[in-house]
Amino acid sequence: MIRGIKNPPTPTAGVTGPAFGNQPGAVPPAGAGSAPRKVVRYERKQYWNEPTMTLWERAYLPEILKGLAITSGIFLRNMFKWITGRRGAVTTYYPEEKRGDFAPRNRGKHILTQRPDGSPQCIACNMCATVCPAKVIEIESGFDPDDPAHPKFPVRFEIDYSRCVFCGMCVEACPEDAIRMQEDVPNLVSDDRYNMWITMDEMLTWRPEKDVAKPYPPKPVPLQLGDSVKRGRESSTH
Ligand code: SF4
Ligand code: SF4
Repeated sequence: MIRGIKNPPTPTAGVTGPAFGNQPGAVPPAGAGSAPRKVVRYERKQYWNEPTMTLWERAYLPEILKGLAITSGIFLRNMFKWITGRRGAVTTYYPEEKRGDFAPRNRGKHILTQRPDGSPQCIACNMCATVCPAKVIEIESGFDPDDPAHPKFPVRFEIDYSRCVFCGMCVEACPEDAIRMQEDVPNLVSDDRYNMWITMDEMLTWRPEKDVAKPYPPKPVPLQLGDSVKRGRESSTH
């Protein structure tokens, strides 16, 4: 049980102690010198889940040696298995071997969804790049005047995987369901951090027939001369 001093008494008249004598220029109060200073001690409160240590455990060093023996034993056992051709603690030799048993909810690699014609669903709105906390998404947009509904499209879409934190906020922010994260691992092995950029070509691996992205609205039909009058009449009859 740890014992301590709670609220050491402040020096008051009639109470003496060594503190008074140690302070330079301190004058002991009148009548002081005979009564011993009163020290209040208390026993620390014991909580319901506190472990009770044995004397052996309190001695500290035996427990340290016991821990070292367990760690060394496991290390030597695994090293022996590894030297003799068995696996030991090493389960996957990454990057030569890759696991394929990720949970479906694992968010490991970005993909860009596509329209039925294979073009990216992305409209280069930059929402994902804006919300990204690590600022690792770079988008360059192009312009297609033949698609007035969504004239912008990505020419370059890259993510720096050396700084991505795999938070998934880009996926959440996308208004077009154009970017997703799937249960895969990106190839992050390189001795150069500039090789860790994932490009648009690498992300356009998703195919619409595998899963359905948010429906993309059809291109509007250009108006012909007289159409506005005809449509106005049709809408007025409804
Ligand atoms: S997962 Fe997070 S850090 Fe990575 S690109 Fe998306 S928003 Fe940025
Ligand atoms: S992926 Fe989504 S959020 Fe990012 S630019 Fe494309 S449409 Fe916008």
